[in-house]
Amino acid sequence: MTERVARFAPSPSGYLHRGHAYSALTAAGAGDRFIVRIEDIDTARCRREFEAALFEDLAWLGLRWETPVRRQSDHTGDYQAALERLRGAGLVYRCFKTRAELMDESARAPHGPVAPYIGSALPAAEEARRLAAGEPFAWRLSIGAAKARLGAAFDQLDFVEEGGGPNGEHGRLSAAPEAAGDVILARKGLGVAYHLAVVVDDALQGVNLVVRGADLFEAVGVQRLLQTLLDLPAPAYHHHPIRLGPDGKRYAKRDRAETLRALRAGGMTPAALRSELGFPNRASSPAEAKRNAGDP
Ligand code: GLU
Repeated sequence: MTERVARFAPSPSGYLHRGHAYSALTAAGAGDRFIVRIEDIDTARCRREFEAALFEDLAWLGLRWETPVRRQSDHTGDYQAALERLRGAGLVYRCFKTRAELMDESARAPHGPVAPYIGSALPAAEEARRLAAGEPFAWRLSIGAAKARLGAAFDQLDFVEEGGGPNGEHGRLSAAPEAAGDVILARKGLGVAYHLAVVVDDALQGVNLVVRGADLFEAVGVQRLLQTLLDLPAPAYHHHPIRLGPDGKRYAKRDRAETLRALRAGGMTPAALRSELGFPNRASSPAEAKRNAGDP
């Protein structure tokens, strides 16, 4: 049987809360190998202090993970190389629209759900002028170009969901990548945006089981498309329900009392938290037990 490589990929932009604990325990239980990855490409929001704290919290929970841990901000060259490849294949274009322009366009659109953004490269002369003027731009994936490149395979893109989407989606599902429109792959200032970094890392790290909250279920479409365009393998997915805070809302930074550190300071034990989250109080899988025992 193929070895299952599962990952937990937090962004160190705050302290971990119960939702993160749930995600990490799910991944650790599902994988023969368990990887933690630090997703810190958004350097304005991420802090080393939160990174150190999250390792402490995960260790407190009783988890063991592989080292060295990959930190995205140390590997921008890998993302640039992937972007270059897409660029060479004519699959991306520069978008100079500002946030205000994009909001204005969507406000003028007919009412209804906000349509995904679909655009195109500017005429060469205008693009050259704006580049020369130093105007910031983002790289967007062209869904139209991707469709033309893949032909019938575009509509056949699919994935295996082992957990569940927000509406209980499970099993082999259609990826439907056009739903997201022309997503941003590299932002102004930052060398890379979320979707591109994630598919590059999952492939480089041999991740074949992506575990994360169901709020990221919609991301699979674009990610499967990028994997296909970059000739990367398709992992399986396990989306889990989002844990809600005591007020019935998603955890946010304001819920300081709900962070794992606050729970710990309040006397909660890892065993109590594991059982509250529905995980057995021993390792949740033979693979996890083996890791915890320090076996190679
Ligand atoms: N870094 C993302 C987050 O903390 C998760 C990305 C993923 O699992 O694909 O929400």
